[in-house]
Amino acid sequence: MATTPQFPRVALIGLGLIGSSIAHAVRQLGLAGELVATDASTDVRARATELKLADRIATSNAEAVKDADLVIASVPVGVCAAVAQDIAPHLKPGAIVSDVGSVKGSVLRAMAPYLPDTVHFIPAHPVAGTENSGPDAGFAELFINRWCILTPPEGGDAAAVDKLAEFWRTLGANVEVMTADHHDLVLAVTSHLPHLIAYTIVGTADELEDVTRSEVLKFSAGGFRDFTRIAASDPTMWRDVFLTNKDAVLEMLGAFQEDLSKLTRAIRRGDGEALFEHFTRTRAIRRGIVNLGQETASPDFGRPHGPLPKAPEKP
Ligand code: NAP
Repeated sequence: MATTPQFPRVALIGLGLIGSSIAHAVRQLGLAGELVATDASTDVRARATELKLADRIATSNAEAVKDADLVIASVPVGVCAAVAQDIAPHLKPGAIVSDVGSVKGSVLRAMAPYLPDTVHFIPAHPVAGTENSGPDAGFAELFINRWCILTPPEGGDAAAVDKLAEFWRTLGANVEVMTADHHDLVLAVTSHLPHLIAYTIVGTADELEDVTRSEVLKFSAGGFRDFTRIAASDPTMWRDVFLTNKDAVLEMLGAFQEDLSKLTRAIRRGDGEALFEHFTRTRAIRRGIVNLGQETASPDFGRPHGPLPKAPEKP
């Protein structure tokens, strides 16, 4: 537990996976003198009260941000503008206003025009998540050893950026600062494109005629299963990601299609050397991710394998 709170009052808007995870961590670490939280959904607010996610659950965004020193909106990217419009007249001068959206350029452009010059607006993206959503999905350890990317606008207040960085580091994250546009390009290839591919493959498998759905489910361990985890991600969130990071995703998709054509050609021509060289290169990338501590080194993602069945008794 932190000895002194980092902020006298923290306000969280949106209590799904990310918002409730921040809430758990802030409470467990004692980072806020008072933690106030809210959500657009009455059901979520009721559940947040049961889960004791905050010291106080406010019934509106405007009420939640009153006198808050740090405000974090953990809402779908598509509603960030509406949230900024909602809270703008009620923000305390000097407050840090941030978000957690998976796309940064559009959030910056959507929120900045509504926010007063008296606050420090610093968009952020904790690159951490699971395929689950809602207030029950959150847990305090979500951000440990994950990256949190801050994308302050040009000329942003350095002390406020440091303060927000310190907050995320206390939650266990590693912090990096970059421009919103660069963030969107990097995440297009490391996150958005893989999700699009997973959504495609799982959809394709579901529509095959010669392979039944029950066969797809039964034999899924051959690689397909790992795509299904990604393809189970929240539809609202991912619809908004592709609508708001359109240019960067289309750029990466173009590069991907070219590489896919190269591999298709290698398979058609029986070019084993090209395939082997490509797969050797990609294997090294996996090792690099494991070496950086961003993934477990355990085979098959550490999934448990049951014990061998007993050998039949000798007659
Ligand atoms: P989530 O579990 O669906 O939670 C979002 C919550 O925000 C919902 O309870 C939603 O209520 C509420 N909300 C919607 N509009 C609102 C408004 N105008 N005012 C207040 N609350 C509102 O989503 P999440 O996974 O936490 O994602 C939240 C943000 O984090 C997204 O921008 C996403 O891009 C980003 N992010 C997600 C992940 C991930 O893996 N999930 C990782 C990193 C960043 P309703 O259900 O009633 O709409």
